[in-house]
Amino acid sequence: MLPARLSERLSSGPPSFSFEFFPPPTAEAEAELWLAIDELTVLQPTFVSVTCGAGGSKRDKTLELALQLPRRSGLRPVAHLVCRGSKEEEVASTVQRLIAGGVHDVLALRGDAPRDADEPAGDFKYASELVRYLRTRQPGLCIGAASYPEGHLEASTREADLLHLKEKVLAGSDFLITQIFFDNAFYFDFVHRARAIGITVPIIPGIMPITNASQLERFIQLCGATVPQRLRMAISQHAQDRVAIAQLGIAHATAQCADLLARGAPGIHFYTLNRSRATRAILMALKGR
Ligand code: FAD
Repeated sequence: MLPARLSERLSSGPPSFSFEFFPPPTAEAEAELWLAIDELTVLQPTFVSVTCGAGGSKRDKTLELALQLPRRSGLRPVAHLVCRGSKEEEVASTVQRLIAGGVHDVLALRGDAPRDADEPAGDFKYASELVRYLRTRQPGLCIGAASYPEGHLEASTREADLLHLKEKVLAGSDFLITQIFFDNAFYFDFVHRARAIGITVPIIPGIMPITNASQLERFIQLCGATVPQRLRMAISQHAQDRVAIAQLGIAHATAQCADLLARGAPGIHFYTLNRSRATRAILMALKGR
């Protein structure tokens, strides 16, 4: 039985473990994803989240996967909703379809501007506007939002970003999931500063085990996360050895998670990239198996 409200589960009880998946682009990727989901389901995650690309067809893929997860695997999905370039009616229709399918948990996001196409005019400028819209129209939804321990790339300062985050929480966010970080000092400092300005909702750290060097570079470019010098050096020493890099990545993420949980983080959200091996290894190590 799923607890009635995800927000209640996240603010009380043992630490949550959750996994992010993205809608698979091909039939082959879909088969691989369901294998990964089967292997991760035994770890009994509190929820799994499904990412969303901008645009109607991508939103439909998110919806499809989010609706399948409880039926096929008994998992609790949190559907990402991206508002950039969307009209209110489109968001309302997506949410209605989610609710009709039994999904009451969403992650409300702005999204990024499309790289190669013109952006359609939408009704929302920031994620806080989407959160407010959802909270007003669907008071029963559990709404999460994104947060950035090292500051969002577009923000003028970390302080300004934090004040915008507070606006997003006051608009009705029940919990926050962080962007990837590799140095826990950023998370703890961020939580401290967030609490100091009255942000009280759970802030779940987002962890991505590094599994290859080029993937790491891509993510750093996308989200601006700082890689500790020692980790960076160890990775560059083994740049051609995929197995060694994956082992380093798993060891680093395991130490990060153990420290986060020991120092009071409310759970861990794993960016799985639709793979199970690294996340399983980390969780098994954390659970002492
Ligand atoms: P916002 O909260 O709107 O913030 C965006 C920027 O605007 C920030 O710099 C903020 O400081 C600033 N800002 C906010 N309010 C104001 C204001 N009133 N005045 C001036 N400036 C303001 N992207 C996807 O496309 N699909 C996904 O599924 C997805 N999932 C994600 C999951 C997580 C956990 C995270 C951390 C990110 C995810 N992203 C996803 C990426 C996200 O869409 C981008 O980082 C995007 O650039 C910002 O989205 P946001 O919801 O944080 O935006």
